[in-house]
Amino acid sequence: MTYVGRFAPSPTGPLHAGSLVAALASWLDARVHGGRWLVRVEDVDVPRCIAGAGEVILAQLARCGLVPDETPLWQSRRGAVYQDALSRLLASGLAYRCACTRSDIAQAMEAAGLAHERHDEWVYPGTCRPERGGLQGRAGRSTRLRVPDDAQIVWSDRRLGPQAQGVAREVGDFVLHRADGQWAYQLAVVVDDADQGVTDVVRGEDLAGNTARQILLQRLLALPTPRYLHTPLVFDAHGEKLSKQTGARELDLSRPIEALRNAGAVLGIACATSDVDAWLSEAIARWCQEWLSASGIMGSFATQKEPLS
Ligand code: GLU
Repeated sequence: MTYVGRFAPSPTGPLHAGSLVAALASWLDARVHGGRWLVRVEDVDVPRCIAGAGEVILAQLARCGLVPDETPLWQSRRGAVYQDALSRLLASGLAYRCACTRSDIAQAMEAAGLAHERHDEWVYPGTCRPERGGLQGRAGRSTRLRVPDDAQIVWSDRRLGPQAQGVAREVGDFVLHRADGQWAYQLAVVVDDADQGVTDVVRGEDLAGNTARQILLQRLLALPTPRYLHTPLVFDAHGEKLSKQTGARELDLSRPIEALRNAGAVLGIACATSDVDAWLSEAIARWCQEWLSASGIMGSFATQKEPLS
């Protein structure tokens, strides 16, 4: 199978040091496997996107020598494809319309004596499930996946090793199409990875917790499951994960080689040269050594690695 990798930034701001790590790792992995590397601009959550940020990210990547092998895909142009997947799930009873607001959910959970915090998300109590009577005359707002009660997803991450999640118990019926009309990340990412023939997802570890939901959706939509590799995160001086939400600063690309060196260091890659293209070539060789040898330079943070078959 021809390797296809991708970097899928959300244009909610320019790249920061943490996102460059994921971009570099996915690019290196594609190069090492003689594959194609794609960039998908995930501008699906329109209210959170910043006008022009997608173009800025593409220009930042190019300055670091990371140029996609195909024209980037923009999720905001793919509503019809997501609608088609949603319609299939609805038609087969695997998704249902939900009328609940956040306060409806909180009240239902309190009435049932259930704790309702899961990070900032709630495990939906199933009020609008078809077997509970559905919308009962209320107007549908969002559309949820009807997570099978026994949905236990077991998967293996190339760096983190074996993973498991009981999706019904730990996540519940999650949203596929939001009440504000936006497509949910989980649905868009699964549909696009399959449409683009992505064989390998290499992305930041903060997204690892979404993987079980995505594998479940792939199975329900009869789509292939790619391999997954979640890369280490970058923390600021206060030990907080770098992210746009925590105010991570835009990458300083006045010297792209410095940005690459910093990103490489997080991946355990150090190259001497100060020319961007030469640095990337050397980094490919390092990444190759890393994944082809059992005790590579990533060993310091890897708990378990699996070579690609
Ligand atoms: N768009 C997501 C983000 O920027 C990444 C999605 C993915 O790699 O699956 O956090």
